[in-house]
Amino acid sequence: MPNSSESFRSSGRATRCAVCDGKFGLVRYYSWRTPLCSKKCLDRFRARRASDCSWLPQPMTQALGAEARRLHRTTNLSNGDIALQLNVDGGRVSEAINGMWH
Ligand SMILES: [Zn+2]
Repeated sequence: MPNSSESFRSSGRATRCAVCDGKFGLVRYYSWRTPLCSKKCLDRFRARRASDCSWLPQPMTQALGAEARRLHRTTNLSNGDIALQLNVDGGRVSEAINGMWH
């Protein structure tokens, strides 16, 4: 049985939102010719593009180190996820968790 969902999505005739896969309402938003269902999805799509194309880590600081340790302690995010969330280099997150950046 063919798995149609992926080929359907890449067929070029998008009938669903590229971000949430939801149906369109009365208003469509466009970013880079990709139709999106809502302002929220537009923001998410732009953020995703930005993170794909020009993600640059900000310099690590003691405050970010403390935040990385806090996230590591209180959530089950991976180091990579913490790095993305704080917009810092993953290596710095590992260092912070290993006791640096106090
Ligand atoms: Zn959407």
